[in-house]
Amino acid sequence: MIEQKHTDKNSTHTQPLESEENIRFEDLFTVADLQKLQDEFAEATGIASIITSTDGVPVTKPSNFCRLCKDIIRKTDQGLKNCYKSDAILGKVNVEGPTIQPCMSGGLWDAGVAIVVGGNHIANWLIGQVRDETQNEDQIRRYANKIGADENETVQAFNEVPAMSRERFEKISNVLHLLANQLSSTAYQNIQQARFIEKIRSTEKALTESENKFKSLFEKMAEMVVIHELVFDSEGNPVDYKIIDCNSAFTKVTGLQKEAVINNLASAVYQVNSAPYLEEFSKVALTGEPFEYTTYFQPMDKHFQISVISPKINTFATITTDVTAMRQYNDMLIQKNNELENYLYVASHDLRTPLVNIQGFSTRLQKQTEIIKDILFISNINDDKKDLAIELADKKIPQSLEYIFTNVSRMDNLINSLLQISRTGRVLMTITEIDAESLFKKVITSLDYQLKEVNAHLEIDKLDNCYGDENLLIQMFSNILSNSVKYRNKSRDLIIKISSKKQYKKIIYCVEDNGIGINQRLLEKIWDVFYRVDKNKDIPGDGIGLSIVKRIVDKHKGRVWVESQENEGSRFFVELSKDLFDE
Ligand code: ADP
Repeated sequence: MIEQKHTDKNSTHTQPLESEENIRFEDLFTVADLQKLQDEFAEATGIASIITSTDGVPVTKPSNFCRLCKDIIRKTDQGLKNCYKSDAILGKVNVEGPTIQPCMSGGLWDAGVAIVVGGNHIANWLIGQVRDETQNEDQIRRYANKIGADENETVQAFNEVPAMSRERFEKISNVLHLLANQLSSTAYQNIQQARFIEKIRSTEKALTESENKFKSLFEKMAEMVVIHELVFDSEGNPVDYKIIDCNSAFTKVTGLQKEAVINNLASAVYQVNSAPYLEEFSKVALTGEPFEYTTYFQPMDKHFQISVISPKINTFATITTDVTAMRQYNDMLIQKNNELENYLYVASHDLRTPLVNIQGFSTRLQKQTEIIKDILFISNINDDKKDLAIELADKKIPQSLEYIFTNVSRMDNLINSLLQISRTGRVLMTITEIDAESLFKKVITSLDYQLKEVNAHLEIDKLDNCYGDENLLIQMFSNILSNSVKYRNKSRDLIIKISSKKQYKKIIYCVEDNGIGINQRLLEKIWDVFYRVDKNKDIPGDGIGLSIVKRIVDKHKGRVWVESQENEGSRFFVELSKDLFDE
């Protein structure tokens, strides 16, 4: 019940204060309580009192009203009207103090103060109905006549009105002013408090909604999610971690009961001497830097990908995805790729033999045609067919042979390119730690002539080391760098910047040039075999340089991509492993 009342008041208090009609005195104060205060005030001071709305209409019942006002003046229509008008004027906001003046109805001394809440004038508190020498019988008699009241009775009632010195009345009025101000500020504080409570409530509601949303997401996720907290020894070193929460996917996949894991140490839950991946997980929980890895879990014959993030210091969450099917597809893809690689090798190798034959027989045909031509010139056949035979042997056949040679050479190039690609794929790698700075030195030395020829300016940062096959990496970066030279912008000096950065277990190398750049639409296409952006441009190439780059990166289980702006330049990124890896 009390709570209900509180809620009603709260909802009233939280209405906007801006619009005056919305605020009613009764909504902010309990009228019965104020009535009591008003009655006691009137009783103690011996003067009349009432609280009215801003236009003078009573809100409380009059206390201690004199007979003159209550039973005579206010009983006449005109008198009551004048009383309301006077009360409304008396209660006008006056920051300096109470408004004290003779009543505009009966002429007795009255005082009024305004009750103002949050800048809104909501009520008037009036006191008075006392007299001193200012008022006299003649005046009151005239007023009785004016409002149509009985003259003698009015005079008699006037004489019953308590007399009070002006000084005492002012003192009482000042007390009233203080009281009204106190009431106003208390009411305003109540409103602010109620608003604050309302704000907390709505924030709490939004928080609960959001929590429910995430809770249901957490529970319904197919991925296993576990939240942990680090456990430290007396020297502050992490020695284990505790499971704080886990979702249904985790309990379903592991078969562990939630109650058996929550608040228990990982070493105990997984029955091992030291908690798995303690070092890596501690780093995430302490630095906030996320970490990701894949692992094979033998008892379930499953591969898992695990992302580790830290929601707050000393805490980390693992999000585990079953990637077994993906791994299987991947293995299948690698196998198919190897098969294709073999086909490519065999096909390009076998195509060579007929091509060499075509080339050989065409050369022979060329020589034989020369002989026929010589014979025709010296023969004394005098036939009209002789001219035609000479034209064939001298012009037409050599012309056709020329076409054959051009196309044979083109096909030879293509086959060479294919063989080069397939050889790259088939190379057996020797993975060692690569000193990146000396690797780039070798790359630059191999391109020394081209770089010097165009007066290229090289800026090389301090580079991080990685793991890989040195020869393949030299070939890969040479392809990228020689492209920077080939596709330079001839209207400015070529600048090539080489840098690297660490990212978890990877090193990302960047080769940046200020060349002609690549159209955004073609950023994916350039990696295709034989693809060239502008085949007609006067720049030599077969369109296989970047496909070889891609193949080498794939063999290293890395990633390669490019960012570019036409006419500004390109940035080729190569991501390689920071650690030793299996082929
Ligand atoms: P090629 O250089 O023989 O054409 P690539 O496979 O090496 O073949 O490159 C494919 C295409 O990518 C090139 O034709 C060129 O248009 C574009 N390209 C490669 N590197 C750059 C670069 N640094 N700046 C601008 N364009 C480039």
